[in-house]
Amino acid sequence: MATRSYQQFIGGRFVEGSGSGSIERRSPATGDLVARYRDGTPEDVDLAVEAARIAFEEGPWPRMSGMERAEVLNRLADLIRTNRDRLVRIEVEEVGKPVRFARGDIDGAAGLTRYAASLAMQMAGLTYTNIGDGKTALISREAVGVVALVTPWNFPALILSQKVPFALAAGCTVVLKPSEFTSGSAFEIAALAAEAGVPAGAFNVVSGYGATAGDHLTGHPGIDFVSFTGSTRTGSRVVGNTSRHLVKSSVELGGKSANIVFADADLEAAADGALMGVFFNNGECCVSGSRLFVQSSIADDFIAKVIARSRKMKVGDPFDDDTDIGALIDHNHLAKVAGFVKSGVEDGAELVLGGSVTTKAAGHFHEATIFDRVEPHMTIFREEIFGPVLSVTRFDAVDDAVRLANDTAYGLSNYIWSKNIDTVLTVAKRLKSGWVQANTIIDGAPQLPLTGVKGSGFGYEMGQAGFEEFTQLKTLLIQTGPRAPVFPV
Ligand code: NAD
Repeated sequence: MATRSYQQFIGGRFVEGSGSGSIERRSPATGDLVARYRDGTPEDVDLAVEAARIAFEEGPWPRMSGMERAEVLNRLADLIRTNRDRLVRIEVEEVGKPVRFARGDIDGAAGLTRYAASLAMQMAGLTYTNIGDGKTALISREAVGVVALVTPWNFPALILSQKVPFALAAGCTVVLKPSEFTSGSAFEIAALAAEAGVPAGAFNVVSGYGATAGDHLTGHPGIDFVSFTGSTRTGSRVVGNTSRHLVKSSVELGGKSANIVFADADLEAAADGALMGVFFNNGECCVSGSRLFVQSSIADDFIAKVIARSRKMKVGDPFDDDTDIGALIDHNHLAKVAGFVKSGVEDGAELVLGGSVTTKAAGHFHEATIFDRVEPHMTIFREEIFGPVLSVTRFDAVDDAVRLANDTAYGLSNYIWSKNIDTVLTVAKRLKSGWVQANTIIDGAPQLPLTGVKGSGFGYEMGQAGFEEFTQLKTLLIQTGPRAPVFPV
């Protein structure tokens, strides 16, 4: 595939944009130039917000019936499916993720779009007729307006599909700022949305850096709601931006999830879960189970099993169907991951597998890496590494597992492996995270909302709750018949 060049997508067409700069994206696996995006300026953002505002106030999209919007979104889901190979290729080239995971992302994007289409037809309110003589109250659910969406680089098409179709289903109009590393699929999907019948201005994409385009967009006075996914640090800045104009926001941020294996678990399944928890998507996953807690009575055997399986992880060409771990997003991130590994060794954790930047191929690769005997004071226990690096900690009692799992600034997800339903339920209730899964890991469906607590953010993504983020309630109270005077004459 030749180098792809994208202009800004504003008002239903590709436009040059105001700045002269461009962002070059090189494949993290090969170093080849794979894409060029415009270095979006505040003026580009202003134009996109204006286009979205006109489409919201005057355009057909918010006024179309739920059925009509659903038809358009279902056509978009079909188009994502028919363009699957191209989208998969773009994700692999720009992100460096293994191709089998990229296929799952694109299928997931189509599934989310189809689910959002079904919600467009379910947008309903509430009526009260029992609040007094002659009084009727209608609580209606309306589109929140023009929404700003900002997305990260690890699941470009998938995460935009956790936002864009849900916003469109509600009747909102959208300005999306994808990551400066991986903007290709956003432009491709915006063009497909136009082909599916999303009217001009209802879905705009502006590429650019976070500090310029992203900052301007999330602090823009013309926006009614901001939905952000990214790091905790940036999320906190975004909330500062939105608070200046008292704009509502939802921020889906980082994680440091616990993957807890009890002695009575199906240990084969749990071992596979341990690998999935840390190596899926190169470990560049917000809901990674990057802290593995193993009950002491089974720890030696179980950890040996996990190490033996991890030794077989194939690191290299992301286009190879057998590759398990592809290239990390760029050299800075690779250096950051290597720095965490170094800190693990210096802090006294036991390096039991890997630990090096791999020499197997050109590009930004890191070996599957495991540390045993990791303690809570160590940096690798506390910080989100976002790479194929697992921390293992042993525990004795259920209480210890819960205390260790909750000993983090984050609260996105946690995982439990046990055949005992009492253990599963009592531990799940005590874990401080928006998401808990038992006997499965990094699993899900479009119907299931994702949310964080603590440093992992707030607001909902996906599910009915994720859809409702893009709506607001309006209460209409009507008096029919005579109204008792308050100041009788
Ligand atoms: P990041 O915070 O660096 O960037 C995310 C997006 O924010 C990018 O589009 C970036 O350009 C933009 N941005 C940067 N500075 C900005 C600013 N000042 N104002 C507005 N936008 C700005 O994150 P990343 O490195 O792209 O992604 C990795 C992080 O995302 C990890 O911490 C990961 O856990 C998190 N993440 C969370 C979820 C979730 O659902 N909770 C999902 C995926 C990733």
